Amino acid sequence: MPKKLIIANWKLNPTTIKDAKKLASLISVKAKNKVVLCPPAVYLSQINYPNLGAQDCFWQDKGAYTGQVSPLQLKDLKIKYCIIGHSELRAIGENDSMINFKLRTLLQHKIIPVLCVGFGTTVEQEDMEVVDVLRAQLEAGLKDVDASKIVVAYEPVWAIGTGKTATPEHAEKIGIFIKAKYGIKTVLYGGSVNASNAREFLQQRNVGGLLVGGASLIAKEFNQIINI
Ligand code: PEP
Repeated sequence: MPKKLIIANWKLNPTTIKDAKKLASLISVKAKNKVVLCPPAVYLSQINYPNLGAQDCFWQDKGAYTGQVSPLQLKDLKIKYCIIGHSELRAIGENDSMINFKLRTLLQHKIIPVLCVGFGTTVEQEDMEVVDVLRAQLEAGLKDVDASKIVVAYEPVWAIGTGKTATPEHAEKIGIFIKAKYGIKTVLYGGSVNASNAREFLQQRNVGGLLVGGASLIAKEFNQIINI
């Protein structure tokens, strides 16, 4: 199996720097796959791991923008990746044009954006509708952006943190669609990935890796995933 990209999204966890450092120290640095840890932004400067990513950032480098994280600050910390457009942020008001600004700014600073797309309130929704929503999200998000420099994470919303996953075949189909239609080189799958189901996603040719939430907080389990 070729090396894949596995990104850990710690979300708003853990709640102390001590626990964050401990968790990072337990993650294998010589895994079989390429691994990126995305801790909360407040910990980024203190976590020691070969590849780090942020969970979000603003589209301006500096100025009167209270509470924001600047892509220039991320660059200064040598952060290589930044998740953008996670459904948990879209749910509280982030829209496609904000996402588009963020992607453009990150690319200017040579930080690789990991654009999350996904849809679906229920597992029953037809593939066709999924493709329509993905198309809308990708077309707006990628406007005037060099798509070949972006990683896309396909995450069905109903699969995030629920213990339910899409089928590996569905993830493969979406991977093929996104790569062919938008010129994206790497499409990840995300949504309730764990040590028991990761292998079947990684075995799909057009699934370039995984975006892992909950299971990335359990060092033993995450180490199993990244060493598949
Ligand atoms: C996520 O939040 O991107 C995610 C995939 O979460 P989980 O693995 O917990 O479903």
